[in-house]
Amino acid sequence: EKTERESMLIVSSYANEYFQYQLWNTDEGRSVGLGYLRQRGISDEMIRKFGLGYNPEGWGAFAKAAQEKGYKKEFLVKTGLTIENEKGLFDRFRARVMFPVLDLAGKVIAFGGRTMTADKKISKYLNSPESEIYHKSKTLYGIFFAKKSIVQQDRCILVEGYTDVISFHAKGIENVVASSGTSLTIEQIRLIRRLTPNVTIIYDGDAAGIKASLRGIDLVLEEGLNVRVLLLPDGEDPDSFARSHTSQDLADFIANNETDFINFKTKLLLGAAGDDPVERARLITDIVRSIAKIPDNIVRSVYVRETAHQLDVEERILYTEIAKVRLKNE
Ligand code: ATP
Ligand code: MN
Ligand code: MN
Ligand code: MN
Repeated sequence: EKTERESMLIVSSYANEYFQYQLWNTDEGRSVGLGYLRQRGISDEMIRKFGLGYNPEGWGAFAKAAQEKGYKKEFLVKTGLTIENEKGLFDRFRARVMFPVLDLAGKVIAFGGRTMTADKKISKYLNSPESEIYHKSKTLYGIFFAKKSIVQQDRCILVEGYTDVISFHAKGIENVVASSGTSLTIEQIRLIRRLTPNVTIIYDGDAAGIKASLRGIDLVLEEGLNVRVLLLPDGEDPDSFARSHTSQDLADFIANNETDFINFKTKLLLGAAGDDPVERARLITDIVRSIAKIPDNIVRSVYVRETAHQLDVEERILYTEIAKVRLKNE
């Protein structure tokens, strides 16, 4: 007798096969789904590697096929792949290209589906709901394909979305995972920490990306990891940037532009603060708050020295401020 979890994993694995079959072996899948992915510059090799697929138009292509194969309605519904209402069963994902989400061991636990229309009324991505086998906040997209490289490079690159991960792989950078849609969580950081203590955040080069980077920095620091940040040119995301550069240029750009979080914050906030002493004081307070989150004394002292140097303030003053913040947080 199978457990509920096992049955759900079996259904997910079947769905993964079904969506890939649709993409490669049906007229609709080839012309609509494969056409869309190729036109976005995703190579067939990457489409195969990441197991991208397609679910047809209509209401219940997958639900029908799965039931004909003997998969029980119960597990189709529990994985969220199908939805049941008065009229019957219908597919959650319709007319979308499918991105299977794999756990650390390589099992398919969820899907993301992207619409191919530009219609703003249709949400761009749709994800599987939380379930017995899929906990969004504990999952990182790409972790299965990245884990070996994360250990080898002793660094994990964190990006926003599915296509960011895939385009980095296409350019030979494989130590990359995405929090995809959910804002970064502590559980996700702990998953990374099992593989490396070093993180580089490369989020989209827009206001939302910068905001998410600042939040990510503090969270990563709190978990005792080292964090670097790379700011992409405005309007670029890791996917678009990777596609418009050669492997060598991409690797060089990352090596030359990733900075530790103090540099990142200083540059970002100093630009806004200028010479205004009140604003400068606020900037110092802001950086002090981040440093105060670092659990390790020695690591903290290294950052204090760096900040004192960069902002031209005395270390003693920074220590006093850090002590205040830490006291308040206790
Ligand atoms: P694309 O290049 O296909 O437009 P993207 O990855 O650049 O996608 P972003 O808007 O930057 O898309 O969002 C980053 C990630 O957040 C996506 O890859 C997806 O995982 C998630 N996401 C985006 N929009 C939605 C949405 N409407 N619902 C759920 N998740 C979403
Ligand atoms: Mn974005
Ligand atoms: Mn993006
Ligand atoms: Mn994008």
